[in-house]
Amino acid sequence: MQQPVWHAISVESALEQLQSQLSGLSQQQAKQRLLDYGPNQLPATRKKSALTRFAQQFHNLLIYILIAAAIITALLGQWIDFSVILGVVFINALIGYIQEGKAERALDAISNMLSQQASVIRDNKAMPLNAVELVPGDIVQLQSGDKVPADLRLIDSHELRIDEAILTGESLSSQKSISPCQEQSALGDRNCMAYSGTLITFGTATGLVVSTGRHTEIGQISDMLGNVDVLETPLLKRISKFARWLTLAIMILTSITFLYGFFVQGYTATDMFLAAVGLAVAAIPEGLPAIITITLAIGVQAMANRKAIIRKLPAVETLGSVTTICSDKTGTLTCNEMTVKNIITAAGNYEVSGVGYAPLGNITLINHAEKITVNSCLEELSRAAMLCNDARLYQENGQWVLHGDPTEGALVTMAMKTGQDADVLYGQCPRIDAIPFESEHRFMATLHHDHKGQYFMYVKGAPERLIDMCVTQKLSGDETPIDKQFWHDKVNELAEKGQRVLAIASKLMEKSQDLSFSDTQQGLSLLGFVGMIDPPREEAITSVKACHNAGINVKMITGDHAATAVAIGRILGIGDGKAVLTGVDIDNMDNDALIQSVQDIDIFARTSPIHKLRLVTALQSTGQIVSMTGDGVNDAPALKRADVGVAMGMKGTSVAKETAEMVLVDDNFKSIVNAVEQGRTVYDNIKKSILFILPTNGGEALTILAAIILGRLLPITPVQILWVNMITAVTLALALAFEPAEKNVMKRPPRNPAEPLLTPFLIWRIIFVSVILLFGTFGLFIFERESGSSIEYSRTVALNMLVTFEIFYLFNARYIIEHAFKREVLFGNRYAVYAVGILIVFQLILTYTAPAQLLFGTEAINLESWARIIIIGCSIFFLVEAEKFVLRYKRRKSETVVD
Ligand code: ATP
Repeated sequence: MQQPVWHAISVESALEQLQSQLSGLSQQQAKQRLLDYGPNQLPATRKKSALTRFAQQFHNLLIYILIAAAIITALLGQWIDFSVILGVVFINALIGYIQEGKAERALDAISNMLSQQASVIRDNKAMPLNAVELVPGDIVQLQSGDKVPADLRLIDSHELRIDEAILTGESLSSQKSISPCQEQSALGDRNCMAYSGTLITFGTATGLVVSTGRHTEIGQISDMLGNVDVLETPLLKRISKFARWLTLAIMILTSITFLYGFFVQGYTATDMFLAAVGLAVAAIPEGLPAIITITLAIGVQAMANRKAIIRKLPAVETLGSVTTICSDKTGTLTCNEMTVKNIITAAGNYEVSGVGYAPLGNITLINHAEKITVNSCLEELSRAAMLCNDARLYQENGQWVLHGDPTEGALVTMAMKTGQDADVLYGQCPRIDAIPFESEHRFMATLHHDHKGQYFMYVKGAPERLIDMCVTQKLSGDETPIDKQFWHDKVNELAEKGQRVLAIASKLMEKSQDLSFSDTQQGLSLLGFVGMIDPPREEAITSVKACHNAGINVKMITGDHAATAVAIGRILGIGDGKAVLTGVDIDNMDNDALIQSVQDIDIFARTSPIHKLRLVTALQSTGQIVSMTGDGVNDAPALKRADVGVAMGMKGTSVAKETAEMVLVDDNFKSIVNAVEQGRTVYDNIKKSILFILPTNGGEALTILAAIILGRLLPITPVQILWVNMITAVTLALALAFEPAEKNVMKRPPRNPAEPLLTPFLIWRIIFVSVILLFGTFGLFIFERESGSSIEYSRTVALNMLVTFEIFYLFNARYIIEHAFKREVLFGNRYAVYAVGILIVFQLILTYTAPAQLLFGTEAINLESWARIIIIGCSIFFLVEAEKFVLRYKRRKSETVVD
């Protein structure tokens, strides 16, 4: 069927075409249409085929060397070696393939957690709905910060501006209206349409869904769908660079060894080829890339379990080096459970009793115990509080539940405590128009009329803002000129108690249908103030302390009053209880002055989103790695600029979520701190894997080199080396990916992001362990040979020696510097114990079963040899612990010197 040209027809005819109306579809109709049209989602991204993904596992320099090695062994007629090397290449690819698949699935599952919500009108009632369930004909409400959930024909719009860059490439937001446009107009000029995936940057609107899912404009642009996060992070990039260098080094080393063996030691070319293959195979850390990918993926999953969803993978690493966390106050550091405690009008100061949203409590005049009768001043204030308000309170199962913003919910409760009834009031004074609350202008206004033909406006917002907009104050029905000093004193009085203060004002209006910004700016009459408490989150207090112990600064950036912010900061342990910088102070500073101030001041009050950007930039220019939270559209630039932008999952807008690196499911400050801890742990675990895997390669390579230099038979053959590398990587090294956080992980300073992957300390540890492996393995091999054992027997002993070393070393590697003489070393990570168990079974199969003996050239060994292996094997544990002890001692000494 030919679709109407939605942008060229009127609202009425669009509604008619879709058999819908302004009161929305009925649930029944919507259900039927969902069956007819299908869900409102884009077809899943066409992923690379399984075969391509498998083939890509071979595209790796180190693997090329292995393939070259296989070809050489084939040319030399060493068919067993040839098949084992190829087998390993294949198994390696298979493991990489499976692990990458797992990591991708984990990321997919996480991105599903960020499903989009829409506000839809059905059966004449506004309700939240998962955007997937939208159908053509639905009526959708939009406000700034929303992502448009389907293609819409606008039916009502208030100063609506939409960022359509995703469709048109145009970075300036386009202004929208509801009048039809020319049929031929280009996508970017269709002002009466809002297209799926675009972002509302300003205003509010209502729209009629005309297309959903793949019938939307964006659904038809197929290559835009591939927005899956790639498994590529700065660390992975550094590692592939490292792998390239390593390959080059291995090739040079192998060539020199070949020449040395052939010319100096007089080996045959065949022997030397095989030795060179062995050396190359020994030095290549085949399992490392897969281990690192899986460690990152496990980290991302662990963060999601702790309520922090990573949207961009590099953030996992950056989180570990965050030095400053800038956090919003309301809802993040505080509970966002508001309760009005005080009311101030020109006629008196009142206390309000009761907690939570239940309208149970009394209003008493301060210093007078009895409940007061509501006077006209108080009555008008509470009427205004109820009408200039979008929140609703409902009773569900005997509990009062809030739909809407907690600040507004608290006002509804307060008004009910004074005897107001919401339904009666909405009937008496219907709302005609509204200017919604925005953090920039810090007030909200609504226009009403009553049934006597009177028009009036109510405004509520930040007191400093409203005091300037008022010329009079209300006193028992009369209006007297406003006493600004009196009100400023009252704001400070309430704010110093840590209360959030809202002023409420009114204005009589001419008959009007629209409310403009200029109407609100003058001629208002102040009705009074309300002061509400919002208790700090218990867990935020401990989390702030944890940050300070971890060398991380916490800064509070809030739209609230300076005195309120300082009072809350005092409870939370943020700031010195005095110093605070306001948005106006920031405006009056140049960048240099701001850079100076941000270093000492931790509380920023009465800020607008624009200040956040300046603060992040100033902090970054002092070398800080900054995490910044945000929820609104205008927070997006600061979130983008921050090293880790954090959006609120509950109260955040789509715009903020799309820009951020991380989204907090529960809007809780604690979740940021948990994510930082996890970020540090992931980096530690990657370091531990490197520290574990590289010495294995180093030890093997040194053993082969030593054999060549001393003119002896190889203590382990290339296929045996491959066995060790593969089997230990998938058992022991993988266990390190599951390593829990070290106890002191949040007691040390943040990691310097410029720190190289292989620090001098890591290189030292790798060499130290490699040398132990060399002496143990090569030494025991020579011992066996000298005692008259066959070459196969001696090699089997050497091979088991190497693996036993690895087993003991795994327990050292669980702690990089801390000692490992503790209970948790055995029980703290059950994967480590499983891995050891599996590995022992594999080693027994390798040593005692006939097929393995044939394939790997091994021989059964006796108990006496095992005893020697185990005794020498455990020496590595004590040697590395001794090295750690010396290191800790030296560190402590140098710290004392610094002190
Ligand atoms: P943060 O999360 O940054 O700590 P906040 O919630 O304290 O922010 P805003 O939401 O920007 O800051 O609010 C700033 C001020 O605007 C508040 O102190 C209050 O006076 C006023 N305000 C808040 N919510 C509303 C509202 N719904 N209607 C009118 N005024 C409001």
